[in-house]
Amino acid sequence: MADFDLAIIGGGINGAGIARDAAGRGLRVLLVEQNDLAAGTSSASTKLVHGGLRYLEHGAFGLVRKALAEREVLLQVAPHIIRPMRFVLPINPGLRGERLLRLGLFIYDHLGGRQTLPLSRRLDLAQDAAGQPLRPDFRSAFEYSDCWVDDARLVVLNVLDAAERGATIRTRMHITNIRRHDIWQFTLEAAGRRAAMSARILVNAAGPWVGQVAEHLLHLPGRPPVRLVKGSHIVVRKLFAHDRGYIFQNADRRITFALPFEHDFTLIGTTDMEFSGEPSAVAPSAEEISYLCRAANDYFREQIGPKQVVWAFSGVRSLYDDGSGKPEDVTRDYHLALDAHAHAAPLLTVYGGKITTYRRLAEAALEKLGHFLRDTPPWTAHAPLPGGDFARNGVEAMVAGARAAWPFLSEATVRRLVRAYGTRINRILGSAKSLADLGPLFGADLTAAEVRYLMQQEWARSADDVLWRRTKLGLRLSKAERDALGAFMAGESSKAGS
Ligand code: FAD
Repeated sequence: MADFDLAIIGGGINGAGIARDAAGRGLRVLLVEQNDLAAGTSSASTKLVHGGLRYLEHGAFGLVRKALAEREVLLQVAPHIIRPMRFVLPINPGLRGERLLRLGLFIYDHLGGRQTLPLSRRLDLAQDAAGQPLRPDFRSAFEYSDCWVDDARLVVLNVLDAAERGATIRTRMHITNIRRHDIWQFTLEAAGRRAAMSARILVNAAGPWVGQVAEHLLHLPGRPPVRLVKGSHIVVRKLFAHDRGYIFQNADRRITFALPFEHDFTLIGTTDMEFSGEPSAVAPSAEEISYLCRAANDYFREQIGPKQVVWAFSGVRSLYDDGSGKPEDVTRDYHLALDAHAHAAPLLTVYGGKITTYRRLAEAALEKLGHFLRDTPPWTAHAPLPGGDFARNGVEAMVAGARAAWPFLSEATVRRLVRAYGTRINRILGSAKSLADLGPLFGADLTAAEVRYLMQQEWARSADDVLWRRTKLGLRLSKAERDALGAFMAGESSKAGS
């Protein structure tokens, strides 16, 4: 008998979602990630749980409907890391006209079974606070609803739930020597250690590496139908004080988002550039940074340039190649390819997909594999992710409760912890009576208690895992503080290993 029912290559959102769904159905699951969880595209997105207003122009109504409906589902199961956000779309007379935008938003409001998110409306920018940071030539706008998500934490929480439901999680490990018989046999390797394992089904959820895995690990014939498209973001000191996001139309007909980010910053993105090469080496180019600055400068009064950029990051979309011309026109929907024939163990390959639709993708994957597994019903639409077991609008009550329980913490810290860990905040703060009880402070409000929790419960191994994926405190720690954190984590790892 094989060791596992399902072995999944890739700890991004799609691998994580499939692992969780499968583990919850009682299947024996192995998830293998070569780096940290969410180290690939799933920490480099614009972080929107959205229908994708722009996809309406491409007639992608099926994708938009599916994605719009998913907003309400995900808000319900992860109210800590996902929140509603209103988006301001200034009317730019030289570009898409008001009538077209109004029609698009009408469809957007009604296509996806919207239940609680407010409808779109028109704004007078001379009266509304959203107009203040904008150049005076923008007089009116539309405002509509979507949601914001901490993308990397969404991955980690799916993996955590999968593990709590019995999945085996192996990060920073390589899967090698894969052989296909009536089951899959392979070797897991890390730091000179090797283990032979087997699984009934293999899932290639390697995101932008999906083609590499197919060609070099699985030795499949033919070119995988995948198109790699790079997208970059920049982060600057905040350009506006309210909590709404902006969606700007660019002269090249693309769109750019400018979002409130980590309280003190604005996140601006994204670009769409054809990509070839090693996905882990992707980085924003000077040309992309200038493009994003220009896109923001066309709308905001405050002008920015590369010198104002405090952080920039890139990700690679791995899109299902539908033969479209421009990168921004390629479908954003997912495609699941099942390769199964007599006497050869099944292989499922995941192409494309969005953060927004990962849960539906996982359900579709399990349905596709249903023939080889026991028949199990979908279950993830109503099951909270770890820490998300509280009411959708319960964040404020939780912040108040946590402030009463740990009065030595500032409101900003409590809010950050509630947003990141939800009801699991007590697993970090426990019976602490003072800041000193939480151990050394590494900078900003990061304490040893939080770092230990992340190492013990969430697979964090390096300072970057903590500073850029489990949190975004990398924006606030100095180089010396980051080094001190790295040294502390190395010490904790060697204590745990000894
Ligand atoms: P990844 O997150 O890349 O995960 C694949 C994982 O596989 C990686 O962690 C990698 O290390 C691992 N791996 C690869 N090879 C191996 C191997 N041999 N062994 C073990 N592990 C391996 N979607 C939205 O819904 N909303 C947005 O706002 C949004 N914005 C985006 C903006 C940009 C710029 C980009 C690029 C994408 C955006 N997306 C958005 C899309 C979304 O981010 C991706 O669809 C999603 O993250 C893909 O997840 P994945 O799991 O397929 O890939």
